[in-house]
Amino acid sequence: KERNGQEPEFLQAVEEVAETVIPYIVQNDIYHGKNILLRMVEPERVITFRVCWVDDSGEIQVNRGYRIQMNSAIGPYKGGLRFHPTVNMSILKFLAFEQVFKNSLTTLPMGGGKGGSDFDPKGKSDGEIMRFCHAFMGELFRHIGHNTDVPAGDIGVGAREIGYLFGMYKKISNGFTGVLTGKGMSWGGSLIRPEATGYGNVYFAQKMLETKNNDIKGKNVVISGSGNVAQYAAEKTIQLGGKVLTLSDSSGYIYDEAGIDAEKLAFVMELKNVKRGRISKYLELYPNAIFVKGETPWSVKCDVALPCATQNELNENDAKTLLKNGCICVSEGANMPSTKEAIAVFHKAKILFAPGKASNAGGVATSGLEMTQNSLRFKWTREEVDNKLKDIMSDIHKSCIEYGKDDDGYIDYVKGANIAGFVKVADAMLAQGVV
Ligand code: NDP
Repeated sequence: KERNGQEPEFLQAVEEVAETVIPYIVQNDIYHGKNILLRMVEPERVITFRVCWVDDSGEIQVNRGYRIQMNSAIGPYKGGLRFHPTVNMSILKFLAFEQVFKNSLTTLPMGGGKGGSDFDPKGKSDGEIMRFCHAFMGELFRHIGHNTDVPAGDIGVGAREIGYLFGMYKKISNGFTGVLTGKGMSWGGSLIRPEATGYGNVYFAQKMLETKNNDIKGKNVVISGSGNVAQYAAEKTIQLGGKVLTLSDSSGYIYDEAGIDAEKLAFVMELKNVKRGRISKYLELYPNAIFVKGETPWSVKCDVALPCATQNELNENDAKTLLKNGCICVSEGANMPSTKEAIAVFHKAKILFAPGKASNAGGVATSGLEMTQNSLRFKWTREEVDNKLKDIMSDIHKSCIEYGKDDDGYIDYVKGANIAGFVKVADAMLAQGVV
């Protein structure tokens, strides 16, 4: 706390892990007296750099770039890049810290990292995005590599940005390697990677519901966000017979009582990924829906809630409202979307609650599969990757039960994910000595 007092999101993420992992350390002699958690909360390396680029009016713009190389005990640093004006050291350190545990849970050999910039892609032309990405990679390239650190996308960094970043990396490194994941299908990308985080989240929700002999089929599902994760969480929900009632962006949410079906979702994907418009435009084509400005969708009655937008978007009051309205399952697609107080409400009511580091791990897991395919110079089919993704989500679910089942049978997925993620990284760190 003394060292990181100015970093509230990072402290929030660390506290949540510490509360469940410290009692485990106390019960297990091999981790005693090794300051293992203290070592895990200190990044192995933090890089910040200047990113200068020229906008369309010829003016020179300056942004700050970051890469947090948090932990490489079990593999190369791995984690996304976020381009958003709210990006700062606290946000990126929380994301990098969570990533270490999440990557460990996937069972694949990946360490944890995160990076990005305070650059705001909203309203920028394609040319400006390209020049920014090229400038950003002009510095980042010296710190990454397919065996060192393999970034991916996150908020504000999708297929377009990964393309520009990869183009510059390839040019200045003079090599075609799997240094980034989320690449296009014709140049090293993996099938199912775009879908993986959203699909994986729904697979995880389904696994949780199965523990109650329940199913997502026929359930009313409320989703926040309308970006990559939200879109594919919606797609998989629809495929499995659930009814998607809402989507949102930072301007508010849309509620479609009739359900957002495959055709309506295709419109949202076009609106968000191609036209880069606001979610309220949904009403122009589907006037029976409503748009609620500036609000999150948690007051809409549902059985299942999938927060897929951003951190701390679901607070204690939202959690109480969800419960009051009969919600039985919350599976986080975003990173840390629920506040600590909200999680306490879910736990007290003993409903199914999955933290992002377990339920959204499908994205990075499939990035791991992309790295494997790049190393093999081989491409698996859509079905092969999807089956591997399902198996990984199922294994993560099993790990959560192994470490998270309380004496009364309630599965505390937060505890389960934290301890399962911790054990593998801690064991590797102990084996490698004090380095
Ligand atoms: P996108 O940029 O594709 O979409 C983000 C969505 O969240 C947009 O609808 C955006 O609205 C909304 N949003 C962003 N910031 C805010 C905010 N401050 N307040 C309200 N809404 C906001 O990002 P992704 O879908 O990739 O990421 C969403 C979440 O999932 C993040 O927490 C990310 O870290 C996490 N995640 C993503 C993975 C991936 O594979 N992409 C993997 C694991 C986790 P607007 O357009 O108005 O900004």
